[in-house]
Amino acid sequence: MNDFYDVVIIGAGLAGLSAGAYICKDGHSLLICEQSDQTGGYFRSFKQEGFVFDVGLKAVENAGMLLPMLHQLKLDQKINLHKSDSAMVLADRILPLREAQDIRKFYNLLGEYFPDERIGLKALEKETDKISKWVNIMVTLPNPLFEEPKHILSRLPAWLFYNFPGLIDFRRTQALLEVPLTDFLVRYLSNRDLIRLLTGLYFAGTPALFGLGYSKIYLDYYYPAEGMQSLTDILGNYIIEKGGQIQTLTGVTKISVKNGHATGVELEGGRKIRSKYVITAADMKQTFLELIEDLVLPPDFRNRIVKAEIGESAVCVFLGTDLPPDELPVQGCSHLHVHPGLQGIEAADRMKNDFFSRTPVEMSIPCLNNPALAPPGKSGIIISALAKSGFSHDWETQGSKPTTAYYALKEEVADQLINIANKVIPGLEEHILFREVATPHTYSRYTLNAGGSICGWTYDRNTTFHRKGMAGIGNSMLTPIPNLLQAGHWTVYPGGAPVCILSGRLAAAYVHRHISRVKEN
Ligand SMILES: Cc1cc2nc3c(=O)[nH]c(=O)nc-3n(C[C@H](O)[C@H](O)[C@H](O)COP(=O)(O)OP(=O)(O)OC[C@H]3O[C@@H](n4cnc5c(N)ncnc54)[C@H](O)[C@@H]3O)c2cc1C
Repeated sequence: MNDFYDVVIIGAGLAGLSAGAYICKDGHSLLICEQSDQTGGYFRSFKQEGFVFDVGLKAVENAGMLLPMLHQLKLDQKINLHKSDSAMVLADRILPLREAQDIRKFYNLLGEYFPDERIGLKALEKETDKISKWVNIMVTLPNPLFEEPKHILSRLPAWLFYNFPGLIDFRRTQALLEVPLTDFLVRYLSNRDLIRLLTGLYFAGTPALFGLGYSKIYLDYYYPAEGMQSLTDILGNYIIEKGGQIQTLTGVTKISVKNGHATGVELEGGRKIRSKYVITAADMKQTFLELIEDLVLPPDFRNRIVKAEIGESAVCVFLGTDLPPDELPVQGCSHLHVHPGLQGIEAADRMKNDFFSRTPVEMSIPCLNNPALAPPGKSGIIISALAKSGFSHDWETQGSKPTTAYYALKEEVADQLINIANKVIPGLEEHILFREVATPHTYSRYTLNAGGSICGWTYDRNTTFHRKGMAGIGNSMLTPIPNLLQAGHWTVYPGGAPVCILSGRLAAAYVHRHISRVKEN
């Protein structure tokens, strides 16, 4: 480690590594400090008894950024990404989501269960179709951040021709980013169970554009053959090959500020590293409330950070089982969205004691993407559900420390989630060889995200940090402190993997445009 770099990045999650890859590509010197023992953040995978488990996402959406980034960095040949098959499980029916017409089948299936709502469901299907067109515009948009100008020019005419119908409705559809999904659904549906079914898998306050846009996103999910971690590993390797440095077990304890400008970082143990730019790709609450002295921040910005609500976390149960993958009754789909019943659930239920016995869950079976991710004839299965960090007295922790009650609670919740997965794979619990459980407390401990939030700020527009609209995205890398930039799922609404790539790219582009003007401090 040197004493000076052009850029220091705090955090080696998807955002920090995406920013870092472009900074190295542009020829600037770089240090990434990662407090944990491994890079990847929520893209970590772990191996136990020959089973590979992903701690975070079950698959990643391209969203018009992942594949273009890999192509631009010439990394697409180095990773074996393939389409990940999703399925919706409704009561006792499994519906694979492999192509656009499967979404129609989903609405038809809902119509079978809720015959009185068929007219509303038809209208909703039409709205979903419009939103799919909007999503298509966004994810295929010729994007100078990820594509060379000559490539953009050559595909622009075909893009305009294909997307013309969606462009007509573009503004009206985009306005649905400000309308909560639940409010939108009541325009078409009156059955509360059905509305809860259509919202229960999502974050509280999820906008209609996003909730219904998922029908398109489900078809756009990819899985790296070696597990989710391999996606961030190839970015890390790229950075090192280009001369950048990544230091794990290197927590940043302070961002140094001189004359109002960021000038570097201070590490655990007190070592100081100077830099022209600091990019924080870590939690915004931590960055602005712990790593920076209060007086340096404009008071209203600081107040907004204090007041804004964080988003949901998750509980994940990782199971090693002796079930042969080809005998799993999931029609070959590796990523399942499971509704255990037809009553649905609402966000407010997430604080209720019985929540985990009736919540919708996601299930993922990595070895259905690549048999090498489990021992021969066996399957690793991950069950996950959204969770509030405040559930049951902050998961029975005390001052962020686990208690005996915490360990009991997490096993009880795991039992409840296994019980739900049992409806998809009958007899599952008799085939479990071992199990591990991650709670919001675990996610927070590994990544330092406040409350173990998995996508940054809440999606609820009334209480989130970000102001309305999409206009500010181009400047989302800026902070109130010159030379301190930001990237990651806290920086752009709504948080998630795609905005990590986008914000990382934006921060790197900003550095490249401005760095020659910054003097070494
Ligand atoms: C169970 C689960 C399911 C998910 N499903 C989806 C999905 O379907 N679709 C989707 O888009 N997204 C999903 N996400 C969210 C997505 O994974 C995250 O939004 C994204 O990975 C965040 O990346 P990041 O780089 O911003 O932050 P992180 O991954 O949190 O990385 C931040 C890094 O910074 C490090 N760090 C923090 N503080 C410091 C410090 N002081 N010094 C040094 N290092 C520090 C942390 O250790 C961490 O490695 C899911 C997440 C989880 C957990």
